[in-house]
Amino acid sequence: MKHAAGRITRRAAALGMLAACTAPARAAPADACSPKLRVVATTSDLASLAAIVGAGLVQVRTLVLPPMDPESFEPGVRDLALIEDAALVLRVGLGFDFWLDKMLGSQGRSPARWRGAIVDVSSGIPLLEVQGRNPFARDAHAHGIANPHYWLDPRNAATMSGTIAAALAARCPEAGETVRANHARFLAQLDGRISAWSWRLAPWRGAAVLAFHNTWPYFARRFHLNVAGFVEPKEGVTPSAAHVASLLALGRRWNVRAILQTTDEPKKLSQSLAARLGIPLVELAAGVGSVPGTGDYLAFMDHNVNALARALAPAA
Ligand SMILES: [Zn+2]
Repeated sequence: MKHAAGRITRRAAALGMLAACTAPARAAPADACSPKLRVVATTSDLASLAAIVGAGLVQVRTLVLPPMDPESFEPGVRDLALIEDAALVLRVGLGFDFWLDKMLGSQGRSPARWRGAIVDVSSGIPLLEVQGRNPFARDAHAHGIANPHYWLDPRNAATMSGTIAAALAARCPEAGETVRANHARFLAQLDGRISAWSWRLAPWRGAAVLAFHNTWPYFARRFHLNVAGFVEPKEGVTPSAAHVASLLALGRRWNVRAILQTTDEPKKLSQSLAARLGIPLVELAAGVGSVPGTGDYLAFMDHNVNALARALAPAA
């Protein structure tokens, strides 16, 4: 995601306000597990997985509430207070939620303050488009280390939920049995859904699509789609006339079947390209809760798979 013109940000609560915030750091409570373990997630997708594996044990808060864009988020005082109060902080990592590092280091806090509390959920994920560049070299979303949109492959949700379950159980050993049971139940549900989603999209195996931003490589690999090009030539860069012409040529050459983007990305250019190529523009959910009917991770993936399958199906 996303193009600057389409982003929803919170400039009023910009980082500058953090420097003015004088609330002292709160000490972690002696019994962080009672009555509920306080978990903060940078995105609603991580929050949903934490709520699933920690059902009955956790109170989960999300820093970037849909439809805000995590890639252009500007944290404020509320967010710092949530983090101060959390026993665990879940992050996407890979530079996606780069602004979290500024929050953790604000007001002269030492990195040791957060030891054991920050969980990078990208741990153990087989990454795509690994480049190894420093994502913090620029103050915006960039795919520096690797493509960070890994939660869009539902198979990765098994690893992600496992990482979160292990962190919850380590923080609250007495809740370990419940967490493991919750996780096992989720994995069984996820397996069934992945089979159903794969079946639903099987008729379009190998189909070429265009995407607005380079959001979909993990989703495309899981469901055997071929992302042939991007409307946005680089993160946040407006397409030139030459780029548009090359997309039209590419779209015809590769028999591109649809343009994918999230509902919060600007659609004027994508609409015009789709009309000229005679293909649908498919607007998908950016994350859990970003459109109605996507209240948890499984419902979110259901929504996107079904929306894509409907758009690709030939008109009756
Ligand atoms: Zn991105």
